[in-house]
Amino acid sequence: MGLPPFELLAPGSVEEASRLIAEEGAVPLAGGTAIVPLMRQRLFVPARLVSLHRLPALAEISPSNGGGLWVGAMASLRAVETHPLVREDYPLLAETLGQVANVRVRGSATLGGNLAHGDYRLDPPAALIALGAQIRLGSARGVRVLPIEDFFLGFFETAKAADEILLGVELPPPAPRTSSHYLKFTAHASADWPCVGVAVHLRWEASGRCEGGRVVLTAAASKPFEVRGVEEALRGTLVSEAAAQKAGELAAEQLDPIGDASGSAWYKREIAPALVRRALIEAARRAPWRAG
Ligand SMILES: Cc1cc2nc3c(=O)[nH]c(=O)nc-3n(C[C@H](O)[C@H](O)[C@H](O)COP(=O)(O)OP(=O)(O)OC[C@H]3O[C@@H](n4cnc5c(N)ncnc54)[C@H](O)[C@@H]3O)c2cc1C
Repeated sequence: MGLPPFELLAPGSVEEASRLIAEEGAVPLAGGTAIVPLMRQRLFVPARLVSLHRLPALAEISPSNGGGLWVGAMASLRAVETHPLVREDYPLLAETLGQVANVRVRGSATLGGNLAHGDYRLDPPAALIALGAQIRLGSARGVRVLPIEDFFLGFFETAKAADEILLGVELPPPAPRTSSHYLKFTAHASADWPCVGVAVHLRWEASGRCEGGRVVLTAAASKPFEVRGVEEALRGTLVSEAAAQKAGELAAEQLDPIGDASGSAWYKREIAPALVRRALIEAARRAPWRAG
């Protein structure tokens, strides 16, 4: 089925884009991989698409003043995944992006479009939360910055106001001794949406003991879900089977999954603790002190 008629606008500044999307029936257009199929199926019929492609500054990936990394919203998932600084300093993000859809989709899809879409099954938010990223939103009213976990409010619901453009995300300076893993469990084919995805980011003391870490699940609740109490459960341990098991139990106690085509709520609750345990064991296996 062809696309319904729409007007295409291409503003030259964030302020202008913000004013345009504030009007009824107008939405931003980035890579189009989410919005175009919805329009084709007439599930979403906006009167005006406000293309962000004339804002090249939004596609930048560059070291930030604070020692971290700035990733502009219009950077494609593939550009982020393959960027040398991402691969070197934030391997969790590169590993996660490498498992989103397929190379063709990742070449068009942008990080900003991914996050703004707000789908509870998206892979990147879990990794970005585990890494402690912040999100920057801009409008004609100004700029605001949020911890990325506060951006996701619920089922397809984000903190983005109608006139706000997602400008990008800021990754914190890389910590000295870390290891990580993104474990994506899919029910049908490997290049599929996750049934449950688990992002693990661990920090290690020079002694080789775990200093703490974050475990964030996707597709297991109406928004990305961080398992509470993991920091305390892992601190001072070597992240043995027993410690990883404990973290899995915490996930099982806290989760209230929603079922979908990739797995029922019951199935997701059953499988999540095992995935948390496996993801932790693999992240610990990659610890710098184990590598030598
Ligand atoms: C076949 C297929 C498989 C997929 N599999 C996965 C998967 O396994 N895991 C996964 O995480 N994702 C998956 N996706 C989703 C994909 O990651 C998203 O479609 C993509 O990231 C959206 O980015 P985009 O640039 O194409 O956004 P668009 O389609 O252009 O926009 C998406 C939404 O975000 C809004 N928007 C876009 N950019 C901005 C901005 N800068 N500021 C404010 N609002 C904005 C748009 O108005 C729209 O509402 C899959 C998609 C396809 C087509």
